[in-house]
This record gives sequence, C-alpha cells and structure tokens, in this order.
Amino acid sequence: EVLPEAIPDSGSSHPAFDAYVVRRDFPILQEQVNGRPLIWLDNAATTQKPQAVIDRLTYFYQHENSNIHRAAHELAARATDAYEAARDKVARFLHASSSDEIIFLRGTTEAINLVAQSWGRRHIGPGDEIVITWLEHHANIVPWQLLAAEKGARLRVAPVDDRGQVRLDEYEKLLGPRTRLVAFSQVSNALGTITPAREMVAMAHRYGARVLVDGAQAVSHMRVDVQELDADWYVFSGHKVFGPTGIGVLYGKLDLLNAMPVWQGGGNMIQDVTFERTIYQAAPARFEAGTGNIADAVGLGAALDYVEKIGMENISRYEHELLVYATEKLSAIPGLRLIGTAPEKAGVLSFVIDGFRNEDIGDALNREGIAVRTGHHCAQPILRRFGLESTVRPSLAFYNTCEDIDALVATLWRIRTGRY
Ligand code: PLP
Repeated sequence: EVLPEAIPDSGSSHPAFDAYVVRRDFPILQEQVNGRPLIWLDNAATTQKPQAVIDRLTYFYQHENSNIHRAAHELAARATDAYEAARDKVARFLHASSSDEIIFLRGTTEAINLVAQSWGRRHIGPGDEIVITWLEHHANIVPWQLLAAEKGARLRVAPVDDRGQVRLDEYEKLLGPRTRLVAFSQVSNALGTITPAREMVAMAHRYGARVLVDGAQAVSHMRVDVQELDADWYVFSGHKVFGPTGIGVLYGKLDLLNAMPVWQGGGNMIQDVTFERTIYQAAPARFEAGTGNIADAVGLGAALDYVEKIGMENISRYEHELLVYATEKLSAIPGLRLIGTAPEKAGVLSFVIDGFRNEDIGDALNREGIAVRTGHHCAQPILRRFGLESTVRPSLAFYNTCEDIDALVATLWRIRTGRY
C-alpha cells in the first residue's frame, strides 16, 4: 500500500496568506466529530463562518436591532445604516456601478425565481427560447422550466464535453432570434467547472438575449466584476461566501431592475398606496417587500469585509494549488474516477470509486471526522450526462490545507484496499 506523503502547506509560499493562520478565525474548525478533529470539505454546500461574522451578528442584536427605514429613533437609524452599509459592501464586492443595483433576498434560489417571475413573465412568450447549460444546479433549471411551461416557451440546453466544460460551438448554435434569455453558472457546483462566462454573455448579447449568471459557487473562489462580465443579472447566496444563511443577492443593471414588474407586494416596496392604485419605489426597495433579513445582511457585509482583508487573489491562487494537489493525490487511487476534469476549475472534486457505494464512502469519511457531500448535489442532469446518479464531492475553501487532503486521501486508500 502506497500511502500519500504529506507536503508542506503551500500557503507558506505566499507570505500574505497562511491557511493555518486564517483557520484560527473559524471557531467551528476546532470542533471534534466522532472523536476526530473536524475536516470540513463540504464548502460547496455551505461555508463556515469566521468569528468576525458571528460577532457582527451578536453586535447587531445587542446594539442595533430595529426594523429599518420606518421609525424616527436612534436604533432604527443604526439598523438602517448597518443594512445599507452592507449593501454598499456587496456593490463594491461585485464591482456594481451603484448600490441601488443590489437587492437583498433569501439566496440564489429566490433571486432566480424573482427574475423568472418578474422579468420572465412579462418578456417570455409562446415559441420563445430560454438557453441554459447541462451544468446547472436545479435552482437554475426548475424556475425556467416552470416559466417555459406557463408561457409555451422552449428550454434549450447547451451540452458539455467529456471534461465537463460547456461546448461553446454548440452553445452558439442554440442562440438565435427566439432566444430571450440565457442563464448559466459561472462555476458548476457538481464538477467545479469554471465556464467561459464573459464570452458566453457577449455571445448571448449579440443575439439580443438577456443573461443571468448564477454566481453561487463563484463568489468564494474568484474575483467577480459584474461590469466586466456585463451580465444583466448576477445572483449569489451569502452562506456560500462565509456569511449567514437566509441572505442572498440579486444584482441587476439599474435600468433593467426599474423596468421590471414588481414581484411581491407589501410594505417597504411602495411609495404611495390608495385603494385604487399603488406607486412603487425604485430599485432596490421595489423588490424588498416586507421586513427582510436585516441582521444577516449585516453579517454578509462582515463576511465580505473578511474576504477582502484576506484578498481574493490570495484565495484563488492558494485554492488552485490545493486543487492541483488534491487532483493529483486522488488520481493516484486505483479505480477512482474524477468527474469533471476541465482545465478551468474551482473548489470542487467530484469522484466515484469502482466497486464502492458513494454513501459508504461518505459514512467512512464521516467516521474520520471528514465532511464531504455524497449524492446528486442538486444537479441530476449533469451527473446523468456522465452516466451517474451520484458522486462523492469534497469541496474546498481557503481554510483547507494539504493536511486535510492527505487525511481524505489516506482514508480513501484504506477503503480502496479493504483496510477500513
Ligand atoms: N446555484 C448553484 C450553482 C449552487 O451551488 C447552489 C447551492 O448549492 C444554488 C444555486 C442554490 O443556492 P441556495 O440554496 O443558497 O439558494
């Protein structure tokens, strides 16, 4: 049995970044699971929270808690300031041209449904086409399917090659005068493929289509610039980028947002109400009906501050080294098949091992304190494209180390060689 040998943590080659130092900011990484130190490799499902985010939430509830915008008292002012400051941070993080382009919602899923139901219901008609890719998460399939069924429109799907990258030639063939909307992810949650998003947006725009980019898996791994990308909408979830659950973002170009029909009605989104008619607010308030997730928006702002302090360039570079290291070590295990081998990847390693059930592998890893996801990852079509119903999926964040990978690989070797 050839056991993988540990190499020094590659973070040390970048003086500005040391994974062992940043790990100390995440209290949960000290947790014991089944008598072992937790190794969190389920970052594509959700990321862990630094103390700065936990503290920010506590501070909000201890010193600022109030509803926003409505009351003329000190705490309302504090809460409103904190909430709007978080919006400004998101705008900076995405390089949006204005904070008014940032709408706080529950997450990626809600943001995609908002666009489908608000913009989609007005602009998609019988015979129109919506183009997505085989890589999509169910959240970027089902809302379009529902819309297409309601409107008599057609959902078309761009294929991927055997490495899991979108085939641009086939994608372009799907675009035409009937294409109204294109929606695709910047990074695949099931395979980790980084799609050529800039190029795909530009191609769709040449055919006059609007484009939504699902950034759920991109935001924690790479710098995002929505102006450079030129996406009409960009969506992500706070919990995937070290922020709280229950908060997410819809970015939209301002003119487009203000031209979109309102979605949910209620307080906050109105300018004036009579029984005969309602005048709505401009974006972002027009899409934030009712009391939102104020504290968690503030927590998301703290998470983005934290990420910016570490530096997205440091994160991308370090994670890429970790991904290369893990890919090499996993590939050396006989019978292990990596699914998704595009040269452009971020964060995700998906695999199966011949003769072993994915759930059994997941259980064995769990007994060692190693958290990975097994299953279809809410992306059944792409797994079926590779003839599978499920994979084992370790996924990375900047607080993971080569030691985490070594522990994963060592357990897999033991399973593979019947010594588990
Ligand atoms: N899109 C992608 C690519 C994802 O990875 C996820 C979550 O796994 C989603 C959408 C849905 O995100 P949420 O469940 O936070 O709404």
